[in-house]
Amino acid sequence: MNRPSRFIASRRDFLKQAGAAAIASWPLSRGFGLTDQAAGSPRRVLKNRAPLASNAFYILPLGSVTPSGWLRDQLQIQANGLGGHLDETWADVGNNSGWLGGTGESWERGPYFVDGLYPLAYLLDDVKLKAKAQRFIDWTLEHQAPSGMIGPSTNDDWWPRMVMLKALAQYEEATGDPRVVPVLSRYFAYQLSALPGRPLRDWGKFRWQDNALIAIWLYNRTGDPKLIELVKLLHAQGHDWQKQYADFKFTEPVTAETIKLNEAGGLGDLALSTHGVNNGQAVKAAPVWYLITGNEADRRGIGEMLAALDKYHGLPNGMFSCDEHFAGRNPSQGSELCTVVETMFSLEQSLAIVGDAALGDRLEKLAFNALPGTFSDDMWAHQYNQEPNQVEVSLHRKPWTTDGPESNLYGLEPNFGCCTANFHQGWPKFAASLWMASADGGLVAAAYSPCEVRTAVRGVDVSVREQTEYPFRGHVRITVDPSSQVAFPLRLRIPAWASGASIRINGQAAQNPEAGTFTKIDRTWKAGDVVEVEMPMQPRLAQGYKGSASIERGPLVFSFPIGEDWVKLRDRGMTADWQVFPSSQWNYALAADTQSVAAIGAKETAVGKRPFAVKETPVTIEVEARKIPAWRAVDGVADPVPQSPVSSEEPLEKITLVPYGAAKLRITAFPVLKS
Ligand SMILES: [Zn+2]
Repeated sequence: MNRPSRFIASRRDFLKQAGAAAIASWPLSRGFGLTDQAAGSPRRVLKNRAPLASNAFYILPLGSVTPSGWLRDQLQIQANGLGGHLDETWADVGNNSGWLGGTGESWERGPYFVDGLYPLAYLLDDVKLKAKAQRFIDWTLEHQAPSGMIGPSTNDDWWPRMVMLKALAQYEEATGDPRVVPVLSRYFAYQLSALPGRPLRDWGKFRWQDNALIAIWLYNRTGDPKLIELVKLLHAQGHDWQKQYADFKFTEPVTAETIKLNEAGGLGDLALSTHGVNNGQAVKAAPVWYLITGNEADRRGIGEMLAALDKYHGLPNGMFSCDEHFAGRNPSQGSELCTVVETMFSLEQSLAIVGDAALGDRLEKLAFNALPGTFSDDMWAHQYNQEPNQVEVSLHRKPWTTDGPESNLYGLEPNFGCCTANFHQGWPKFAASLWMASADGGLVAAAYSPCEVRTAVRGVDVSVREQTEYPFRGHVRITVDPSSQVAFPLRLRIPAWASGASIRINGQAAQNPEAGTFTKIDRTWKAGDVVEVEMPMQPRLAQGYKGSASIERGPLVFSFPIGEDWVKLRDRGMTADWQVFPSSQWNYALAADTQSVAAIGAKETAVGKRPFAVKETPVTIEVEARKIPAWRAVDGVADPVPQSPVSSEEPLEKITLVPYGAAKLRITAFPVLKS
């Protein structure tokens, strides 16, 4: 079995040094950039100003949550991989980027890169990575046109600017750089004046809610009522996502013909309505609009949308199929990496606005499964499309609705380079969203992973240390350290799967929390108070396409790891493109039902430095299965799972399942044997 890193390590080292020399020659930031807020007092959480509706929770300013344990290791893997070196090997975000004043790529790729690179650099407190992100930020802040327009002057598309707005907001939260608010104020004033004559079109029209989110962010800082007017105009010009989902018509896999892909250069309304990334971004559309209207129906709109996506396009990894348009529930269909990270960002924002525990469950499902499952272990290579039943990674035209033959390769820019630029936001924004402030002045454990929090609650500095090996274990230990005693509610998300969860406070059993809710602990906190949450993690069966079954444990989805034979297709600068061929059979049906699965004991081993590497996985599950000889692959694609129940005369075998994210070739949705 060939693994990517072994083959190209020495060449990569050489190129890294060359890349580092190029960075060193760049004139670094004047003024703010390289100093930051970390040493000072915690940054204030800004709540929504009237007349906006209140969020349930507020994401803490970037820098309040610091990842530790395996999560920090994972961010470091990203920084050591393509995440920290992309600009050294990919011209689109290199020195000639239009977002650095060059003549190169001047559209979405620079902003995409910074939107993830900045929080990655900040969470790791990595001076070199901060400097890499800073030059894009400085260029943008220092080259605003007299009109108020930002970004390269070679295009006036609203869309790529929407991405840079998100990056600038994070940067301001982390540093307090006083240049940001005036630049955004002038930009939004310009946008409000220009939109009537130059309305939102194509991507921008379908992604208006991301623009609106940052206009609202600024409104909370300046109170300028023109910003509310702007949000209303964006909504009026933008695609009506809630209408689309109130009467959802895209209930079948689409084809290039049914969405008229050859019209308007692929940018017609039908194509954009069924486009995966657009829908991933739109998951936040109803909650963002709710902030303006305060209508309960808008607040609930996200539930309607997710239910429709699940029903018609849901996959066992928590994603909906989009390769790159809606593709139905067959687990051999794919999901684009951009859609994974954009849906995660939408869920983080929506969880804060709506406060629904189910959104946290879904966020974790994506973060712990779909996200790691689409990268090589070292994060030097990623896919465009991942499949839950992924039996071969190779050049093939099937089964994608509209994507090209390279879509599931692991590489630099398989199919198209959007994901190459955009994947960076996935892990860092997840880490930054683990803890939130509640509207009633408390703290919220919104998603679980090892981390530390530094914030102020009711005027008192509070540190929180979360020690856990979640999602591989169900135990979470939270130490609360206020600088002086302070009363506030602490909310803990109890996932829907965690029935029987228990809580102890300073060793004493506390209330039994209800699964699928935020449980609230009202208390006067003093230094060293310890809250322990125990979430039972019996394996369980999830039903899917054609009666198939997937096995889950806690927030992890499990897969049968097919033997992998990595074959390099070609070098790509510091990285390479890879095909992965199966070196073992995979066509198993499970001999399992709900009861027998719950009785299986998972095997746990130590959580190491690469918990999502197949050889280092800290938890496995053994199940009984029989082969189904008639279930095959054609052109590298597994046939749809046979309708369950199925029969087999093949011998009963014990097979070992690993977390989805670790198995780069895998079966996740299995047919089920007749009992
Ligand atoms: Zn993409």
